[in-house]
Amino acid sequence: MSTNNRLRIAIQKSGRLSKDCQELLKQLGVKLNLREQRLIAHSTNMPIDVLRVRDDDIPGLVMDGVCDLGIVGENVLEETQAERQSLNQYSEVLKLSKLDFGYCRLALAWPQELGPQDKSWFEGKRIATTYPEILKGYLKREGINASAVMLTGSVEVAPRAGLADAICDLVSTGATLEANGLMQGDTILESNACLIQNPKLNDEDKLALINKLMPRLKGVKQAKE
Ligand code: ATP
Ligand code: ZN
Repeated sequence: MSTNNRLRIAIQKSGRLSKDCQELLKQLGVKLNLREQRLIAHSTNMPIDVLRVRDDDIPGLVMDGVCDLGIVGENVLEETQAERQSLNQYSEVLKLSKLDFGYCRLALAWPQELGPQDKSWFEGKRIATTYPEILKGYLKREGINASAVMLTGSVEVAPRAGLADAICDLVSTGATLEANGLMQGDTILESNACLIQNPKLNDEDKLALINKLMPRLKGVKQAKE
């Protein structure tokens, strides 16, 4: 890989975190030329490049040092870490800061017509999710013998479609669950967006730039409180 002396920050290209990420960079004083559908946006006032990618790719890009920093949901970070650990791959990041956007919960849900259920109901069931590693960790901790069915989208229709008995999906207001006739159960993970760094980063100029940005980030967070 070619050496690059500009700090590389990975953010979600388009989705629920994109706007807040762009706004945060702006508040940190990073001026960006966010034209068109470009993968890379160069800052015009700091030695910073912003890579715009799918959120699922962000933890891996930071772990592998392709990007120095990344902004991603803790849900995606934890899933990637668990997945890499199961494959004996490097999975470390430095969590620099929890951010005040992207809040959601990863929760269990099942068809409403079944009424309230306790944990024992899940025994032997199939649970559809985009987060199989986080779910498996939960099931193991709780001593529940159930299987995870991996779906990358439309998880909430899985029970109706006969693909699974229950789901484990991201919830913010609960409106999607309700619209699909599902009842919400235990929360497995509470998640916010967070700022992560490659732990092996040792370029002094880049580290100095991060040290300059961190107090600004603290200021932005405090101003919002
Ligand atoms: P991409 O195309 O980048 O893979 P995506 O469809 O996987 O996008 P989004 O739906 O844009 O992802 O969600 C990005 C992140 O926003 C989630 O991983 C989560 O951290 C956060 N988030 C906040 N609220 C919600 C919600 N109600 N549902 C889903 N994600 C949410
Ligand atoms: Zn995604």
